[in-house]
Amino acid sequence: MNCNFTRVNQQPHTSLIDYPIEFLKGIGPQRAEALQKELSIYTYQQFLTHYPFRYVDKTQFQSVREVTEDSAYYQLRGHIIELEVIGDKRTKRLVAKFKDASGVLELVWFQGYKWMYEKLKANNEYIVYGKATSFNGRFNMAHPDIEIVNELILTNQSAFQSVYHSTEKLKFKSLDSDGIRRSQRNLNTLLTEQSIPETLTQSIIQDFRFLSRCESMKQIHFPDSKELLDKARYRLKFEELFFLQLKLLRNQSIRTLTVRGFVFSKVGEIFTNFYNNHLPFELTNAQKRVVKEIRIDMGSGKQMNRLVQGDVGSGKTLVALLSMLLACDNGFQSCLMAPTEILAKQHFITIHHLVESIGIKVALLTGSTKTKERRLLHQQLEAGSIHILIGTHALIEDIVVFKNLGLVVIDEQHRFGVAQRAKLHKKNSQPPHILIMTATPIPRTLAMTLYGDLDTSVIDELPPGRKPITSMHFMESQRLRLIGFMKQEIALGRQVYIVYPLIQEGEKLDFQNLQNGYDALLDDFPPPQYQISIVHGKLKSAEKEFEMQRFIKRETQIMVATTVIEVGVNIPNASVMVIESAERFGLSQLHQLRGRVGRGADKSYCILMTSYKLGADSKLRMETMVRTNDGFEISEVDLKLRGPGDLDGTQQSGILDLKIADLAQDGQILQLARSSAQAILNEDQQLLKPENQLLVQQLDKQSKIKESWRKIG
Ligand code: ADP
Ligand code: MG
Repeated sequence: MNCNFTRVNQQPHTSLIDYPIEFLKGIGPQRAEALQKELSIYTYQQFLTHYPFRYVDKTQFQSVREVTEDSAYYQLRGHIIELEVIGDKRTKRLVAKFKDASGVLELVWFQGYKWMYEKLKANNEYIVYGKATSFNGRFNMAHPDIEIVNELILTNQSAFQSVYHSTEKLKFKSLDSDGIRRSQRNLNTLLTEQSIPETLTQSIIQDFRFLSRCESMKQIHFPDSKELLDKARYRLKFEELFFLQLKLLRNQSIRTLTVRGFVFSKVGEIFTNFYNNHLPFELTNAQKRVVKEIRIDMGSGKQMNRLVQGDVGSGKTLVALLSMLLACDNGFQSCLMAPTEILAKQHFITIHHLVESIGIKVALLTGSTKTKERRLLHQQLEAGSIHILIGTHALIEDIVVFKNLGLVVIDEQHRFGVAQRAKLHKKNSQPPHILIMTATPIPRTLAMTLYGDLDTSVIDELPPGRKPITSMHFMESQRLRLIGFMKQEIALGRQVYIVYPLIQEGEKLDFQNLQNGYDALLDDFPPPQYQISIVHGKLKSAEKEFEMQRFIKRETQIMVATTVIEVGVNIPNASVMVIESAERFGLSQLHQLRGRVGRGADKSYCILMTSYKLGADSKLRMETMVRTNDGFEISEVDLKLRGPGDLDGTQQSGILDLKIADLAQDGQILQLARSSAQAILNEDQQLLKPENQLLVQQLDKQSKIKESWRKIG
């Protein structure tokens, strides 16, 4: 036996799976240190869940001639015929000519090329896997996975061989994919049903005919067959999602049991009067349904935590207002928090205008509210003479004290942090009801996870009479056509937005872009016939406001802007949205921007301007925008393209810690996992039954692991 184990025996209670990784045969202190630094792997358990990210199926190869699609992945088998380090200091790279019976392809390494140069040998046969990139009409592959055929065949145990993520530093310590696989093999021989105890209850295992946890761990690393690999993967994905959902749903159920909410028992005079006499239009069925859901929540005695998802223009503001009137009817104040000053102001104008005549006092509080005004406002809030407060982050400052806050509406929640939400909870003796409105449609899978502990409502219907927005993708060469089109629309009395990307406010280059665009525009749309507003992050808020107002009053026909106008701005007469360098925007952002038009009775257009050369991802984004106006469909594509890591709000949610499940792929498994977790909680709300103790232990263990990572990090 490995003498290292004697050290472990000094801690007799440590189970195999919690051993420090350095004790694993073939690892030792130095590699352990590298694994810790590079992949945060400290224990056998963590190493075990460093799952393969793919499997080489040695029966499936494509030929070089078949490499025809940009950004697609290919697995090839052939010989390296030439190896050369080329380029100057900055562009230095290793280029390998790779040849099979059908042709030659270049493999390129920019990083770690010295090491690769030593590892690879001309005339050897390799299996290569990587993403093809077209360059000057020819394809190459940068940083492919590459394995020598001889070695593969020697270690071959089954048709599926696991491939692991590694890093440049780990490769130096002989822990490339092959090295990791060898160590995984050593660990795998130690696994027993005792050392890898079951985490799911027998009834779940039977219901789903799952492999045991131990067997799954064996098969996921060293599959005996495709079928067993699929089963192992299925079980491990389920397990991961199940505990995530169980945690969320248990939190929700604990909250329902312990947190009392204000009871808004009546629909009173204010609501009824407004509804019957002052509604500017008939509610859509979706709006009615959601208002009802909210009303039931707020009357139930529990504290509402509800997310309303509704595509841009679906009429969320009115739903918010009706909810706030219910609060008024029951003697409570409400507030509505918006992510930007422009938007807060706009909400204020809309809402103030709608309810002024029925005696509801609405106030606005933002960063630029003057001190004197602010002081008065604070007094009125404490006295209770303001019923509805609308504003930005300024709302949640501790100095803002309400007499009796009963409902908080958060518009575009993804811009607010968890800490800020927690602050809101403390604004009254009991936490107020919380209604979160988001116009960023998120895929169902993500919603279930990000907002898995919230109740959700969906406004899945647009107000009647909306004409679908026509979207077009223009290249630079079509700019003349664009200008002609804009002139034509302006001649019809419409207005046009032109948006420039600004990835970080104040980035010099982007600003230059905007300025150049504006200058060019002046040539094509000369004053006095044409007037142009310009709004960007460098303007003071009064200047921004001035420019916005000119556009709203139709004194200007064109609004040139950065993404400050992204959220919520409502100017129905604007019917054309031009997005410059559209390839630099994410899909959900493009969709948000497009939502600024199509708000009036006129036919609206969105024109996506891009350069001629587009990568495959950008092309797909443009095609998706042109094909559909459906925010949910767009969000699904977005999730597939970007993964959950880049989507708003994912950072705190734990979904980035997912080791095997993939929210873009595993929606069905997630659904099953969630309903199983829900079924268990329905039977045993507090997880007190003996058969569920296993699950409780597992939840505790997971949260402890998280804690200790935090300490280490
Ligand atoms: P969002 O959901 O994007 O916040 P808004 O609340 O800003 O949408 O509503 C978009 C536009 O639709 C507004 O001009 C609003 O007055 C109008 N609207 C809302 N509900 C209805 C309805 N039921 N019928 C007609 N128009 C409506
Ligand atoms: Mg809105």
